Amino acid sequence: MSKLLSPKDIVHSGLCIGCGSCVAQANKPDAQMNFDDYGQLKPQGSPAWFNQKSLSFTQTCPFSPGARNEDYLANNLYPSAPQQDVAIGRFQTAYVGHVGEEDFRLQGSSGGMVTWVATELLRKGLIDGVAHVIATEDPQTEGRYFKYRIARTEAEVRAGAKSRYYPIELSAILKTIREVPGHYAVVGIPCFIKAVQLLRREDPVIRERIRFTLGLFCGHMKSARFVESFAWQMQVPTNQIEKVEYRLKDPNRPANWYNAQLTLRDGQVVNRDWWHLADGDWGAGFYMNSACNFCDDVVAETADIAFGDAWVEPYSSDGKGTNVVVVRSPLMQNLVENAIQEGRLQLETVDAAFVHQTQAAGFRQRREGLAYRLTWNRPGVQPRKRVSPDSKTPTRHRKFIYRVRYYISAWSNRVFKLARQIQKPPLYYSWARLAAAIYHGLAYHQGKMAEMRKRYSELKG
Ligand SMILES: Cc1cc2nc3c(=O)[nH]c(=O)nc-3n(C[C@H](O)[C@H](O)[C@H](O)COP(=O)(O)OP(=O)(O)OC[C@H]3O[C@@H](n4cnc5c(N)ncnc54)[C@H](O)[C@@H]3O)c2cc1C
Ligand code: SF4
Ligand code: SF4
Repeated sequence: MSKLLSPKDIVHSGLCIGCGSCVAQANKPDAQMNFDDYGQLKPQGSPAWFNQKSLSFTQTCPFSPGARNEDYLANNLYPSAPQQDVAIGRFQTAYVGHVGEEDFRLQGSSGGMVTWVATELLRKGLIDGVAHVIATEDPQTEGRYFKYRIARTEAEVRAGAKSRYYPIELSAILKTIREVPGHYAVVGIPCFIKAVQLLRREDPVIRERIRFTLGLFCGHMKSARFVESFAWQMQVPTNQIEKVEYRLKDPNRPANWYNAQLTLRDGQVVNRDWWHLADGDWGAGFYMNSACNFCDDVVAETADIAFGDAWVEPYSSDGKGTNVVVVRSPLMQNLVENAIQEGRLQLETVDAAFVHQTQAAGFRQRREGLAYRLTWNRPGVQPRKRVSPDSKTPTRHRKFIYRVRYYISAWSNRVFKLARQIQKPPLYYSWARLAAAIYHGLAYHQGKMAEMRKRYSELKG
């Protein structure tokens, strides 16, 4: 057993993803998840709790080196899964496609599969509620645009469709699940599902009540500042935003042309393609949570079923949206197969290599890139990953990209904080345009200066 850790140890080592599991377990009114100066959610509480090293925390924090890893958890959760892949994990079957039934596909970010599976579990009486992420009703009063809540009707589940690249946390819904008997499903990004599985091992009530886990593939977690940056660049006041849409669906445009839309209190609607935003290139890593630098699970390896976008042609050009789905549990396998036979799901079987291909960039960053980052000296708790430190395999060019992405993530948080404090948005977006242009030239044009200059001019408009 590695040494005992406290929430403070993980937070101060830049390894806290803000899942809220530790706060749920503390069950103390003064232990809470609050936004830090960078717009990331972090646990806060009395020093007696925050600094307290404990076995339970060490075994349940998803970034603790003393917690079981994804391989161990998946081996125990899905022992009968016939397929095992070094990137995809254990699984029954993988698919590509979308929901055929009703308008799930059009309402979803990709093919609508997450909302469909959650709805189907409710319809079949297998659960009483689904923990998922919805928009808050009055974000200016609540101080956040999105949060977890438990949906108990089909209409409520469907109101939660769409991806939210925004910090959310599990503490309140974990407390509710402990307090209110019933069976639940939880939708979450890979590290949150790992947190749930670790807690299920320690807490028999949670184990009995959380019956299903629905995982989302994940590139990284953005901070809350991303929304403020949308507002700055679309030149609308942040304190008037009522609704945020990260990916407006337009069946007539390629699915990977993301368009962000803000609705203001007076009904005004503004939107812009991510391509025209200084920080809109996902690969550049703007506002990434520092813990994501040390993540090695792209496809929710500990979830009963996991969903992503099929980022390969011809699917990425289909604006209606297409899922790639990895089924790990036998029950989910039956649920999906029956619906395919009934014509309610339009899914075709694919292999692990296909799934890998849809997430090629995510795997590069969290295999080769992670191995390289693990060779860097860093203070504090050392993460224990399934990838070994390696600075020899990546080319010089790839290393440079990993470094630039790392610095863009770290400095986007700092520069935004300063610009916000002195109320000078141009300070931030001038810096962000430059950073994005450098990244663009490096990542897509072998470092050509002319391409960097061209991209910078495009972003300046
Ligand atoms: C932070 C983040 C990063 C992602 N990165 C990738 C990636 O790199 N590659 C990829 O292929 N896919 C990624 N996804 C998943 C992708 O965006 C879609 O969510 C997925 O394809 C499912 O689409 P759908 O149409 O089936 O889901 P929908 O039917 O639209 O349902 C989405 C469900 O997810 C819930 N949800 C929304 N936001 C969150 C959140 N932040 N945390 C937990 N639950 C949430 C909703 O409440 C809803 O239940 C990411 C998702 C998130 C939230
Ligand atoms: S990652 Fe989760 S459990 Fe670990 S310190 Fe952060 S909020 Fe707590
Ligand atoms: S990249 Fe990994 S650590 Fe970061 S939010 Fe996604 S699953 Fe969590």
